[in-house]
Amino acid sequence: MLLADPDGPGAPLSPEELMRAMSNDELVVLYQPKVESGSRRVVGAEALVRWQHPQRGLIAPRHFIELAEQAGLIHRLGRWVLNRACAQLHEWHEGGNIDWGVAVNISPMQLQHHDFGSQVRDALRRHRILAEKLTLEVAESCLMQQIDGCRDVLSDLFSDGIQIALADFGNGLSSLAHLKRLPVHEVKISRVFIAEVDSNPIDSNIVSTIVTLGSILGLRIVAPGVDRKEQLHTVELLGCDQSQGLLHAPPITGSLFQRRFGTQCYALTGGGSPSAVTEVASG
Ligand code: C2E
Ligand code: MG
Repeated sequence: MLLADPDGPGAPLSPEELMRAMSNDELVVLYQPKVESGSRRVVGAEALVRWQHPQRGLIAPRHFIELAEQAGLIHRLGRWVLNRACAQLHEWHEGGNIDWGVAVNISPMQLQHHDFGSQVRDALRRHRILAEKLTLEVAESCLMQQIDGCRDVLSDLFSDGIQIALADFGNGLSSLAHLKRLPVHEVKISRVFIAEVDSNPIDSNIVSTIVTLGSILGLRIVAPGVDRKEQLHTVELLGCDQSQGLLHAPPITGSLFQRRFGTQCYALTGGGSPSAVTEVASG
């Protein structure tokens, strides 16, 4: 099984290569800040995996997550990312940033693994992280597809206090009745509605409606893909609780994240430096 992408890393990637990459420590996790509206305080990060390929350079997850799912490697990859992110969070906490949390993307296939719940609890225990500091990001479409057992697993983790975020919200098929019953703390709006939120009244109305929904159901609302000041002002004005995007910073290494945001006050300077990503090799 091989996956190719015209804009991708060149020749198709194989499961064997990915397996070797995991054994050879070629995967890295970068962190993108989540910023509280109003105070502009960094409240944590989303963990985003990359493949630092020795010949092809840094490979984005869209080029290998699907391969990992199809080859049955996503459980191993997902567990590694989860542990890496928890270890990093522990380091940040030790460094004095005790309020920070970390969000990890979870593939629907991981939720179907019989051991997923224990893997999450083990990671928290091993790295001495409080449940409420870990967010699991699950795509809306995954929860709406009634995939066997997914909702039960998430309900158990939700009861433990682990934060559950419904990502790409608005792309799936959620109805109000469903949303009310889902084990969810956070709704991450689909980037589609954020892209032109400051200029398109339909998008700003949709975002405003999601914010209202969130406040009725007691959910935190996050606006991702914020890469312009006007977008940031609009999503804050509309009442989104947090934002994320290139305006704040691109995904960067954990050590750079701590150096850059590890003070109590984070003032928005007008955008992150994309060159920060080049710190991967030394991070
Ligand atoms: P996502 O969870 O929606 O992650 C956000 C993506 O948007 C990231 O791409 C991030 O770099 C990018 N982004 C951040 N700010 C901006 C912005 O202002 N504008 C735009 N246009 N994009 C922005 P990335 O890191 O390439 O990740 C792509 C997707 O790969 C993620 O989408 C997530 O679905 C998946 N992914 C990443 N890491 C993992 C992982 O560890 N496990 C699993 N299962 N999936 C992962
Ligand atoms: Mg995500």
